[in-house]
Amino acid sequence: MGKVVIIGAGGVGTVVANKVAQNKEVFTDIVLASRTKSKCDAIAHDVKRRTGVTIQTAQVDADRVPELVKLFNELKPDLVINVALPYQDLTIMDACLECGVNYLDTANYEPKDEAKYEYRWQWAYRDRFEKAGLTAILGCGFDPGATSVFTAYAAKHHFDEIHHLDIVDCNAGDHGKAFATNFNPEINIREVTQKGKYYENGQWIETEPHEIHKPLNYPEIGPKESYVIYHEELESLVKNFPTLKRARFWMTFGQEYLTHLRVIQNIGMARIDEVEYNGQKIVPIQFLKAVLPDPGELGENYTGQTSIGCRIRGIKDGKERTYYIYNNCSHEEAYKETGAQGVSYTTGVPATIGAMMFMQGLWKKPGVWNVEEFNPDPFMEQLNKQGLPWHELFDIDLEV
Ligand code: NDP
Repeated sequence: MGKVVIIGAGGVGTVVANKVAQNKEVFTDIVLASRTKSKCDAIAHDVKRRTGVTIQTAQVDADRVPELVKLFNELKPDLVINVALPYQDLTIMDACLECGVNYLDTANYEPKDEAKYEYRWQWAYRDRFEKAGLTAILGCGFDPGATSVFTAYAAKHHFDEIHHLDIVDCNAGDHGKAFATNFNPEINIREVTQKGKYYENGQWIETEPHEIHKPLNYPEIGPKESYVIYHEELESLVKNFPTLKRARFWMTFGQEYLTHLRVIQNIGMARIDEVEYNGQKIVPIQFLKAVLPDPGELGENYTGQTSIGCRIRGIKDGKERTYYIYNNCSHEEAYKETGAQGVSYTTGVPATIGAMMFMQGLWKKPGVWNVEEFNPDPFMEQLNKQGLPWHELFDIDLEV
């Protein structure tokens, strides 16, 4: 059906490579490109062993538009799946416009020198993508991604108006390390150490980091202390679902993780500005990444599961209704299937499904779109088929 270039050979790239190969009737030509070609080759080798499918590999520095343009002109892909880092979003979108290639990513653009996630940089490309007749699909991982589609599905099928949305993200897995992050440490630590923020009655309310917390009950897991943090999908969801009166994002953290995080911050290792070290400039958080466990290597001994979903309160036929839709994903199963742990799996599977939606013409419209702006139904159907089955609960107490 079409040719796809995956950019980024990390944990998420590993899962995407496996899943697109498993869907060879949709993705007839597959290329995996990243900064370090040897990582692409290792993944391609593993995918061949698991699925029998050959993936072509390439080297590219996605910070450089001319390198991307050269690659895209050589390969002529229909779609680029960007699972490198959020810093590369705009350069890849620029190259897509120059070469007439469609675009999909899982995380919104962030400037390297400021931990700030906003869609405005990417939404500013809307007219150019529209004029070029190209589709850009933003935020197609799990959160953002599946959670945004869950919200669209709930609004379409179960509510006349949605009023309260709580996205709840629990990782009850155990990787056996004293401290490790589940995806890129630099991006992860920047995300979880910033101030909290949620939306209420038309306003954004800022909190101190991890100020609001309480135990929430997760299916098959039980109660876990959960913290309100800011997460990027809130920005597009409150815009696309204007009936929302409140929208929050909760994430679980263990005490051990939070203690390490506090120490890392207190000693300056979370700094994102340059410091002078032995006559050389280094960025502390980038140095920290080099010494922390590689998230891609956590899979082998990872046990337990993730549970991520949306808790929604709203109105149906004049009556108040509550609704909880979620997926639980086992780290061990994810590792068996793809060689990557559950957090990479829950991101890479929705990215592959989004790409499939595009290839099949189901999510194809010129412009720049967040995933909740497309028809949720075919995506939801594929979640069940591609390894992330979802479950629904109705009229339950959402506060526990
Ligand atoms: P990793 O750090 O494991 O992998 C990132 C990959 O991108 C590496 O292979 C890296 O290359 C490559 N890369 C970095 N810079 C460049 C560059 N300039 N040019 C080419 N390649 C580059 O990250 P993850 O796989 O954990 O995460 C990938 C993305 O997924 C991130 O954007 C993350 O924010 C997002 N994500 C989204 C989630 C969601 O649910 N929406 C959840 C989790 C992650 P090298 O190996 O050479 O360093």
